Amino acid sequence: MSDPVNTFEAQQEGRPTGPLVQGYEVIIGFETHAQLSTASKIFSRASTAFGAEPNTQACAVDLALPGTLPVMNKGAVERAIQLGLALGSTIAPRSVFARKNYFYPDLPKGYQISQFEIPVVQGGAVSFFVGDESKTVRLVRAHLEEDAGKSLHEDFIGQSGIDLNRAGTPLLEIVTEPDMRSTAEAVAYAKELHKIVTWIGICDGNMQEGSFRCDANVSVRKPGAKLGTRREIKNLNSFKFMQQAIDYEIRWQIEEIEDGRAIQQATVLFDPDTGETRAMRTKEDAADYRYFPDPDLPPLAIAQEWIERVRSEMPELPRAMAERYVTTHGLSAYDAAQLTQSVALAQYFDAAVAAGAAPKLASNWITGEIARRLNAQDIAIGEAPVDAAQLAKLIVRIGDGTISNAAARQVFDALWTGEASDVDAVIEAKGLKQMSDSSALETIIDGVLATNEKNIAEYRAGKDKAFNALVGQVMKASQGKANPAQVNALLKTKLG
Ligand code: ADP
Ligand code: MG
Repeated sequence: MSDPVNTFEAQQEGRPTGPLVQGYEVIIGFETHAQLSTASKIFSRASTAFGAEPNTQACAVDLALPGTLPVMNKGAVERAIQLGLALGSTIAPRSVFARKNYFYPDLPKGYQISQFEIPVVQGGAVSFFVGDESKTVRLVRAHLEEDAGKSLHEDFIGQSGIDLNRAGTPLLEIVTEPDMRSTAEAVAYAKELHKIVTWIGICDGNMQEGSFRCDANVSVRKPGAKLGTRREIKNLNSFKFMQQAIDYEIRWQIEEIEDGRAIQQATVLFDPDTGETRAMRTKEDAADYRYFPDPDLPPLAIAQEWIERVRSEMPELPRAMAERYVTTHGLSAYDAAQLTQSVALAQYFDAAVAAGAAPKLASNWITGEIARRLNAQDIAIGEAPVDAAQLAKLIVRIGDGTISNAAARQVFDALWTGEASDVDAVIEAKGLKQMSDSSALETIIDGVLATNEKNIAEYRAGKDKAFNALVGQVMKASQGKANPAQVNALLKTKLG
């Protein structure tokens, strides 16, 4: 492998300068560990399920006990291929597993099986929006590797223990070029990558459980200077901490440099309690790890047919789906982007449309009323008390004139709060049906006109407000059941 620092430097040539912070340009590159959603480990049959009793899910292979041999999990490779295809990367026809040697209590076997010189996924890019600015972050690579165990510190008894359940869990480490130029861009990248891996289903994306962990490499430089020395913030497992950590790190580095101190390459941890980053160890170089090809594993060969089969089974990606919503349903690009925030949300929209909802109305309800309620209750669309079929029915009832928009909101509220489970039943029970009988409506209008001479006179004198007041009176007299459009039309005719 060529000298990584020089490679990164060369890749940055000709890139536009980012926004400056106190005269410094910020440079960020990400390494993300996505835990692959296989049932068993990357080289053994042990379960990957989260939350088991410590040390009940690590087998002899995960611990590399003498006499055992690792066997590649095909599902993990397939997921790596899926990611590569989703991000426009090259899938290496032949890649190599290597041993990364280091000592750590949670790695009793003394080495981690990873990929070094030849990773399975090479190149590719992630594109996303920061506000209304389109950004593209290039990937260097994504490689397969096994996770280590976990140290558990039981402060209350003053002891630490090792849980090896996580040892051998399949990871895909996704590495970017140092292409990001601000905290906002870095967080947006991480969110987009998270969306993609969960969308294609290769990772459950659960950040609290550690299924999606980001390392942010941060450096600063004067515009036009060579890349500065980076510090790597490890294991950011929430977007909020990610933002706080990177912001803090940028300020800290600038202050150090301004105070005349050079930045030392280091691995740092973010402490959410203090909001600060703290050096954990000085950074190792690749040479420290004594990488060598793992003698227990043959090179990973991926035939073109396999890649093509995976390609043919790939789900439609969020970008393509959003474009389709714009072209076939006439949605705005903004609404389409909102609806493709997650597979579940897009599926909900698709289901509502398939059940007969007008796409624009379905989009308005989902990105408006429903999004607001999901947010307020902090729940996901999968937990929404109103399913897509009921939303569609509600929209159909608005469209066919059965209920007004105002009544629809009442119906929706009854469904959401669990008061009832069917649109028609609520309409019936609450007597929300709009008046469709125009002679009954005319009687009401005549009554209103007979007692509102002042408004009539004002309307004739050209005051729009007076007309609205009359509509309001009619709506009130009909107990909200009149069709406002019909009221408008009838009133206009009657007033001449
Ligand atoms: P490791 O951290 O494992 O040694 P690499 O040397 O391949 O791995 O670099 C990892 C990450 O550091 C990449 O995401 C890359 O974009 C980022 N990076 C490299 N140089 C810089 C820099 N000067 N400033 C910020 N990020 C950088
Ligand atoms: Mg690193």
